[in-house]
Amino acid sequence: MQSFQQYIDGTFDAGSAQFESLDPATGAPWALMPEAKSADVDRAVEAAHRAFLSPEWAGMTASARGKLLYRLADLIAENAQALAEIETRDTGKIIRETRAQIAYVAEYYRYYAGLADKIEGAHLPIDKPDMEVWLRREPIGVVAAIVPWNSQLFLSAVKIGPALAAGCTVVLKASEDGPAPMLEFAKIFDQAGFPKGVLNIVTGFGAECGAVLTRHPKVAHVAFTGGPETARQIIRNSAENLASTSLELGGKSPFIVFDDADLDSAANAQVSGIFAATGQSCVAGSRLLVQNGVKDAFLARLKAKAEACIIGPPDDMGTEIGPLCTARQRAHAQELIARSLDQGATLVTGGTVPDRAGYYFPPTILDCTHAREADCITQEFFGPVLSVVGFDTEDEAIALANDTAFGLASGVFTQNLTRAHRMIRAIRAGIVWVNTYRAVSPMAPFGGHGMSGHGREGGLAAALDYTTVKTVWLRT
Ligand code: NAD
Repeated sequence: MQSFQQYIDGTFDAGSAQFESLDPATGAPWALMPEAKSADVDRAVEAAHRAFLSPEWAGMTASARGKLLYRLADLIAENAQALAEIETRDTGKIIRETRAQIAYVAEYYRYYAGLADKIEGAHLPIDKPDMEVWLRREPIGVVAAIVPWNSQLFLSAVKIGPALAAGCTVVLKASEDGPAPMLEFAKIFDQAGFPKGVLNIVTGFGAECGAVLTRHPKVAHVAFTGGPETARQIIRNSAENLASTSLELGGKSPFIVFDDADLDSAANAQVSGIFAATGQSCVAGSRLLVQNGVKDAFLARLKAKAEACIIGPPDDMGTEIGPLCTARQRAHAQELIARSLDQGATLVTGGTVPDRAGYYFPPTILDCTHAREADCITQEFFGPVLSVVGFDTEDEAIALANDTAFGLASGVFTQNLTRAHRMIRAIRAGIVWVNTYRAVSPMAPFGGHGMSGHGREGGLAAALDYTTVKTVWLRT
């Protein structure tokens, strides 16, 4: 069986304990991963802290940090195929998606490479002629970055990129479900030439590795992507070290189709909006709100597309829907569907687990027009399941869209420009996509409200979040 190594203080080791990683396409163990224990995490944080204070890193110019990040981006691009294959193998994310996403990962590192020497302080024109006052922007310290299994290379890039650009150091905890891509990434990072300890990558379980990391006294900031319950535990743990937090959590994003929308384009966007990444995406457009005048026509299009999706092995370029990452995810989808059917939802298509090895789950659509309180409307599946509600008026669409504890993403499909503007103002979410869905750019902030978390990733603001302001008073 293949085995992977953790990356601490610029060296690789197998760790004091190991666990088996399962191949989602078969359910069989395929590789051994290091299981970071308290001592490993402590070693990683100490290494990051030493690196943070070291002349090699703390004394490096911002543009030199930027050059290292450019070098890293080039190495990612050169190793894109290997990274994509390993992510597909360990998480079940289909190869056509991992390949496409790795190109983006390199772009995010390039964007933050370019920002490294543009993080500026300020001079204050205060009312005292014998004083000079200015603000220095300094890195906040050691960052604990914690990611879930889906899109780990991407979700870590939006933390590591801005943190290193700002001059911080990082301990990244990969997900216990499919950590291999991050351990493969460690080998590539190691070639880029950063001083040792600037980035450390550990893999282990939340209860030990995650908890020890987030309450470590030398951690200054926790950048987390994952579920709301874990976020609560992280906030409780960060009460120990008073670390700041940024939380990118789940969603139940509304995808709103008005009867004047271009239905073909909306249907294509809805299919990728919910079924891409086999639905394991925080911004999945998982609540379709469709105006009753076009509901039947739109659902007929979606049903046909869902039933035509090619379900298959994740490493096949022809596959459109691969397995879920874990058996737990599949059981969660099954239970949520069963409860929702009991609560009055009706099945439009899908819902039945195929008779094959691996954690496969078919594209599924539930009509909840007469079961608006059903669990499938309020709870996140994190799987390929779309819940649909018909509406009559714009006000009703707004009320339905905002009737959620989450507030991450949203989509509006209409050809009426003034209505689009009204919807943009009315929807409470961190992202509004109009006549498109899932568009991303390193320049565009990304994040949510309420149960979707706080803080933003992407853009200049994300790099500033990894800095602190020092106010300097100088008597002249
Ligand atoms: P999870 O919260 O169970 O796990 C995420 C990470 O947190 C894992 O690495 C896990 O080991 C770690 N963890 C668990 N307990 C911990 C603890 N006590 N202390 C510190 N770390 C701990 O999430 P998941 O089920 O793996 O991922 C799915 C969730 O992630 C969904 O809710 C999804 O919406 C969300 N997500 C959000 C975004 C976003 O950008 N907003 C992106 C992708 C996924």
